Amino acid sequence: MPSLLKCSKYVMKHPFFVVSTLLMITVSCGNSHVSETTYDTNVDTPPIHDSVPEIPSFAQKLIECYPETIVGYENDSIVFADGSRMIFDDGIVRSDMQILEGCDIEDMARWSYNDSIRPFCDPGRNRCEALFKKMYGQSAAEVSKHLRTIDWCPTLVGQKVQITTINHVDVQLQKVSEELDKHPEFKPYLKNSGTFLWRVVAGTERLSPHSFAIAIDIGVNKSNYWKWDNPKASEADTIIYRNTMLKEIVEIFRKYGFIWGGNWYHYDSMHFEYRPELLD
Ligand SMILES: [Zn+2]
Repeated sequence: MPSLLKCSKYVMKHPFFVVSTLLMITVSCGNSHVSETTYDTNVDTPPIHDSVPEIPSFAQKLIECYPETIVGYENDSIVFADGSRMIFDDGIVRSDMQILEGCDIEDMARWSYNDSIRPFCDPGRNRCEALFKKMYGQSAAEVSKHLRTIDWCPTLVGQKVQITTINHVDVQLQKVSEELDKHPEFKPYLKNSGTFLWRVVAGTERLSPHSFAIAIDIGVNKSNYWKWDNPKASEADTIIYRNTMLKEIVEIFRKYGFIWGGNWYHYDSMHFEYRPELLD
């Protein structure tokens, strides 16, 4: 109470000073309030795009191309339909030669797939083996559980070929076959010389995509393979490019999600492989 009495006496003695001071405090508090409101609106609330984790475009493409196998992307990993995850980018920096030897998923997008051959670029030949094993099977026995036999170009060729049903590769190859079969002029190029075979790429320890039953070789007598044409060359050497495969055949495969080995610097013109994630 004594202090309250002192205050009252002070107000009585200095009324103008007290009123001015109170006014200044009020204005000051008002300003403070305005400035806090401004902060809340413009600074404290983050833009919407910052609050949603961004999915790398190649991971998004994988989800779109393999919807029954790859269902999402979380914490730098792609998420499979069984709930398991695989790291997308392991952070290791690899040279162009090193990504042929083995790479993470992110490295598979290093080279864009187009129709021009660029030195030492093999778009699609850089495969994350763990991803393919996860999708199609860890062994020959596992891959074999998902094979379907289809009639390959029944009118022009009439062979049976085995291809995986995972990711509907069989359905897509069936469509390729039906379309090619309408073109008698393609006949010399269509004979199949191999789809499923668990094996390594010649001269390497890397599994061939044929191991996963997602690839087909055709027209071997009309084909060119970089190693046949450059027998002494290693992958690091400059080589001569040759191809006699028909562009129209390549286009039909492409339409249904298959890339062509003739688009690689280390060319393999008989080889077609289901890799829709690399196509536009
Ligand atoms: Zn092949």
